[in-house]
Amino acid sequence: MKKIVTVLGARPQFIKAAVLSRIINKYSEIEEVIVHTGQHFDINMSQVFFDEMEIPAPKYNLNIHSLQHGAMTGQMLAKIEAILMNEKPDAVVVYGDTNSTLSGALAAKKLPVKVVHIEAGLRSFNMKMPEEINRIITDRLSDLLLCPTDSAIANLNAEGFHNFPAKVVKTGDIMKDAVTFYSEKSAEKSTIMKNLVLESDNFVLATIHRQENTDHLENLNSIFKGLESISKEMKVVFPIHPRTRQILEKYQYNFNITMINPVGYFDMLELLKHCKLVITDSGGLQKEAYFNQKFCIIAREETEWVELVENGLAKIVGSDSQNIVEAFNFFKQRTFNSATELYGNNVGEQIYAEIKSLLYS
Ligand code: UDP
Repeated sequence: MKKIVTVLGARPQFIKAAVLSRIINKYSEIEEVIVHTGQHFDINMSQVFFDEMEIPAPKYNLNIHSLQHGAMTGQMLAKIEAILMNEKPDAVVVYGDTNSTLSGALAAKKLPVKVVHIEAGLRSFNMKMPEEINRIITDRLSDLLLCPTDSAIANLNAEGFHNFPAKVVKTGDIMKDAVTFYSEKSAEKSTIMKNLVLESDNFVLATIHRQENTDHLENLNSIFKGLESISKEMKVVFPIHPRTRQILEKYQYNFNITMINPVGYFDMLELLKHCKLVITDSGGLQKEAYFNQKFCIIAREETEWVELVENGLAKIVGSDSQNIVEAFNFFKQRTFNSATELYGNNVGEQIYAEIKSLLYS
């Protein structure tokens, strides 16, 4: 049986990997070994997803976290290389754009082991973002690039990927499958609406954790001021990322919104289903808002998910509090209406078929 090693380490990667692992298990044609780098390690940032989404337990946990980018990537690189030399997989699968993604791809490619990149081709064109650096290098190292959108394919073409010995395929976005698959279960299991005494359609769901916001106090302060203004009219529920919490605690910032600990995926899906709209700098949440037919206000200067903005379903507002409030006032009156499927359907199966064909051709 052919073998893949999946390298993951951050919250959005657990959610994406859950979809593919389930399909891999269903067919029993490929052995999957999971390496958890440890990048996210709190129970509510990691284990809760393995439990709820029934992701197979990692065979290796590298426990590497809370380091600068260089040190973190370097330590991961060395440890993943040793694991790959021992496991001798036919391919390594990486997701998205974190340091775990980059180190998995780099360790594999130099051995050499084939690299599969899920969520390839996305670009923000902002080289100040660590994620942009990670995804550009990972794409260049990959043998199979599985793209969520036409714009991702266009980005790779513009970078000359058609001249490289790599296969580029549009599959759609694997997060669509996660939302579809876990939506019923979340309705059954989650009690968050009751626990927080939330009314459907009468609260805003917000998350902020991108380094470009957390590392610039002015931006962070301005975003929270915007959220605070909105909360005078409608409750703002804010599951707080550990990085954001650290900064708020360090500077003793206190804002009058409903801050809660990071939630598991089931709770997140219920919050998404019932909220009025979403305000976020998260990549994943922008699409999950769309999958749940909610408008999204993007607290960044750009987005990789340009289709949402082009279709009038999301607005880029940066960190300006006034812009955030204006976008809220704009969307709160409107009815969400999107007839087209922007991110595909049954994506996990297509990704699985591509990986199988890479391994067995
Ligand atoms: N998420 C979650 N609980 C939270 C916050 C986010 O389950 O408290 C999920 C969210 O639904 C999405 C993923 O985590 O599926 C997004 O991760 P994050 O925002 O950390 O990363 P990004 O997508 O920006 O890379």
